[in-house]
Amino acid sequence: MPLDLTTRRNAESAAKAVDRLNELELIPRSPYPGSDVHWELACGRDGCDWTGRLFYSHLRPSRGHGRRHPGCIGTPNTHRPLLTDTELTTRLNHLFPESAFTVHQDANGRTITWTGSPDALHVAAHIGTSQGTLDRTP
Ligand SMILES: [Zn+2]
Repeated sequence: MPLDLTTRRNAESAAKAVDRLNELELIPRSPYPGSDVHWELACGRDGCDWTGRLFYSHLRPSRGHGRRHPGCIGTPNTHRPLLTDTELTTRLNHLFPESAFTVHQDANGRTITWTGSPDALHVAAHIGTSQGTLDRTP
C-alpha cells in the first residue's frame, strides 16, 4: 500500500528524501514509499543507466556516507537535479491532474503556481524543495 503523502509528517519526510536523492544523483521513479520500503530509483549520472530498488533508510545523510547504488559506471557530478519548466509542469499536471500548474521565472528565481488543492507541502513531497518557490492560490 502506498504511503499517504498528504499527511504533514509523511510529506515532510518525502520532501527531505527527494532532496537527498538529488544530492546523491539518484532519481525517484515512484513517490516516496517510506524509509524501510524498497524505492524504485534510477541513477542520474551521465553514462549510467542503472535502475533498481533501494531502502531510503540506507541513503539518509545520518548514515554518514555517500552510498548510492552498487556498480555505478556514471560520471560523478553530472546529475542535473533541477527539472526544466516543461518537465516540472508535465510532472505536476500528471501527479495532480485536478490542478493546473504554471512555472515562471523572475529576478527572485523560479516560482511554481497553481490554484486549488494540493497544498504546498504535498507538492514538495513529490518534487523536493529545490525546484522553485511553491505558490498556491486557494
Ligand atoms: Zn550509476
